[in-house]
Amino acid sequence: MARPEISIVIPMFNEEDVLPLLVERLRPVADGLDTAYEVVAVDDGSRDATPVLLQRYHREWPQLRVVRLRANAGHQAAISAGLASAVGDYVVTLDADLQDPPEVIGEMLAKARAGADVVYGVRSDRSTDSTFKRVTAQGFYRVVRAMSDADVHSDAGDFRLMSRATVDAVNGLPEHNRVLRFVVPALGFPSDTVEYRREVRAAGETKYPLSKMLRLSADSITGTSVGPLRAAIWLGLLGAVVAVGVVAYALIARAQGHVVTGWTSTVAVVAAMGALQLLCLGILGEYLGRMWEMLQARPSYFIAYDSQREEPRPGSAGEGELP
Ligand code: UDP
Ligand code: MG
Repeated sequence: MARPEISIVIPMFNEEDVLPLLVERLRPVADGLDTAYEVVAVDDGSRDATPVLLQRYHREWPQLRVVRLRANAGHQAAISAGLASAVGDYVVTLDADLQDPPEVIGEMLAKARAGADVVYGVRSDRSTDSTFKRVTAQGFYRVVRAMSDADVHSDAGDFRLMSRATVDAVNGLPEHNRVLRFVVPALGFPSDTVEYRREVRAAGETKYPLSKMLRLSADSITGTSVGPLRAAIWLGLLGAVVAVGVVAYALIARAQGHVVTGWTSTVAVVAAMGALQLLCLGILGEYLGRMWEMLQARPSYFIAYDSQREEPRPGSAGEGELP
């Protein structure tokens, strides 16, 4: 097989429902690119029939490469594993659930060949997302963009095409729990955009429960900026000013002889200060936790099997029966 010009990286976690639809729609698009390609399916430790199906498709579709992680490492880590495994001159990442239309890849590739290092897929409208997702995502992007020096597009997700230079740069970053949609713009490489309509998930359910979304948000903020740490200092200063006023008031009230009436303000101040301190401690904790993870320097994922490198061993990678 010729060395691929483009690698199509797809993270998937328990995607047995959507996988047949994905293959059916992606294969003609990929063949139609008229260039050597590979599809890197990163099975993020799925516990359903995903690995079995992937093995089956791999047999009849030589360009489909299967990289299986030993355990569920999460969406971003799965993409990272795919980026590290991909060998193409260009690498595009997209979701397995067909929310990112594969038909757009051709246009992305053309723009990259014309010189852009990164081509972001930008959602032209988000009407297929739930109102909750839309509102929270918009508010969240506004906050992170305000904190970031980089030019982060508010409607860009993880559907993007990167040049080899960009992929090598990302692979070389030691950062843990990186959120690629903020890390890639921060590189500042020449970029372009392609608009697309985000479709609804073709089958199955979201693999992003609220807990994972909150984790992603915290990683996005602490990975992008130390702004919240600085904000904590300003909050602390504000608290100090308020405290000085309250102390002055308490002293005057005492001098005037009605001490007992100070109860309400005391309780209010204690509560407010306690809340403020906890908030600032929490912010510190987020950054400390991040440093701790980096000091541990544990790998973000473990590859169990790569169809390009070895034959599947019996019992691994879902040969035979369903797991
Ligand atoms: N995904 C993954 N590991 C996870 C969670 C999700 O590889 O732990 C994949 C999932 O299979 C899909 C993509 O990440 O291809 C985006 O997930 P999903 O579509 O469920 O998220 P949503 O679109 O609902 O935000
Ligand atoms: Mg999705």
